[in-house]
Amino acid sequence: MRNFNHVSLYAFTARAIHSQVAIIGGGTAGLNVSAQLVRDGHYIPQQIRVFEPYKMHAYQTGWTLVGGGMCKADQTMKPMEKVLPKNVCLSDCPVVKIDPEQNTIVTMDGQKYTYDQLIVASGVQRDYASIKGALEQLNNPEAPVGSIYYYRYAQKIDKMIKEFEGGKLIFSEPPTKCEGIPSNIVFLTHERLSARGVKCDFHVYKANDSIFGIPKYSQILGELAHEKGLHCHLKKRLIEVQDHKAIFEDVETKQQYTSDYDFLHIVPPQKPAAFIAESGLGDSDGYVNVHPNTLQHVRYANVWALGDCSSLPTSKTAAAVMAQTPILIKNLIRTWKLKQPPLPDYEGYTSCPVYTSNKKVLLAEFKYNKQLDETFPVFQSSDSKVMYLMKKHFFPFAYWQLMVRGLWGGRDGIRLFKGV
Ligand SMILES: Cc1cc2nc3c(=O)[nH]c(=O)nc-3n(C[C@H](O)[C@H](O)[C@H](O)COP(=O)(O)OP(=O)(O)OC[C@H]3O[C@@H](n4cnc5c(N)ncnc54)[C@H](O)[C@@H]3O)c2cc1C
Repeated sequence: MRNFNHVSLYAFTARAIHSQVAIIGGGTAGLNVSAQLVRDGHYIPQQIRVFEPYKMHAYQTGWTLVGGGMCKADQTMKPMEKVLPKNVCLSDCPVVKIDPEQNTIVTMDGQKYTYDQLIVASGVQRDYASIKGALEQLNNPEAPVGSIYYYRYAQKIDKMIKEFEGGKLIFSEPPTKCEGIPSNIVFLTHERLSARGVKCDFHVYKANDSIFGIPKYSQILGELAHEKGLHCHLKKRLIEVQDHKAIFEDVETKQQYTSDYDFLHIVPPQKPAAFIAESGLGDSDGYVNVHPNTLQHVRYANVWALGDCSSLPTSKTAAAVMAQTPILIKNLIRTWKLKQPPLPDYEGYTSCPVYTSNKKVLLAEFKYNKQLDETFPVFQSSDSKVMYLMKKHFFPFAYWQLMVRGLWGGRDGIRLFKGV
């Protein structure tokens, strides 16, 4: 697992370091926002500081393909210094505290930083440890338990599929903020094992009460699951993993069920970093409490959030980040430089592409209140080969060649930066 190695042995007493814009997290959201801020031209890069403890930036979307045997793990990662915009400052120690009253940040080594504007983009933590026994089985190379939510466990899934000789497969999903991602590995595994003629009994256990939160896509995916003979069990949460035994709890009745397995895929529960709530920036679930349309913090006008760590009530995806970034930047400049109110322009756009086989993708696109917001409706009435080609070939290109350079405006295409 990705653990922070920085140990605070003593409080650092050096002078605070100031940045005009501090960005916590150098993941998809932190990179995209820093690259677009630099391109926008209102800031010089040296006045922007990104806090990111990891040396490698991960294109997590690619981990589905790693598990599905369609790409190698090293194709999903690049060194931070290669993807961070030139001259933007990088602090490689994790943030442990923010004081939004004093505009200060403290990192794990005790160093203090100050800011004019703060953007929180710290993603979510994958809490495998909250499922009893899960880490032990995931870390045991002999145990048939894996997960596409971490690249090493995704590599294990690929190996498990290659070596599987038949039996019962279980795919577990906690309440999740993006229901499309877990379905990918179910269908890709089914496709690969069917191609080899392996005899399988597929079971999907979901804590949610439907296959997908949007009725149209739920119906399409439900029909596909039925056609492929996949059994779906709703409102069931994985609580414990033992050697070839998984224990589930009904989310309503709390009744427990034990099931044998020969192959188990785990989607980890996800939670925001503790420093958000501890710094007084969180909502009741600990996500950064921002206005759903402006991305500005509900109490602190110079604090913003986007991506997985934000309270924005939409599916948490990289596609959502691409839609949020230009709005956040515009509002930050409006409120700070132009002294104008933020515009309520974000309507919750998000997109979840679901591989239904290794040749087709169902592209789900929607916004707040479960409203469809489709870009290519003609290809979105069911799973499609065209969407597959976009997802497999174009999206990774857009990410590595356009997004990290601040040139990708999501479905608005190339960003031209004409100003606010
Ligand atoms: C298997 C998988 C498949 C996916 N498939 C898709 C897909 O098909 N389409 C799609 O659009 N999205 C997909 N996603 C979702 C997408 O990857 C996320 O929504 C996106 O990465 C969110 O970006 P983020 O910057 O908010 O979080 P992240 O990219 O997770 O970045 C957060 C960063 O913050 C850093 N950080 C955390 N704590 C601290 C701290 N205390 N101090 C400093 N830095 C900190 C972390 O190290 C990390 O680098 C997928 C995700 C997974 C795991």
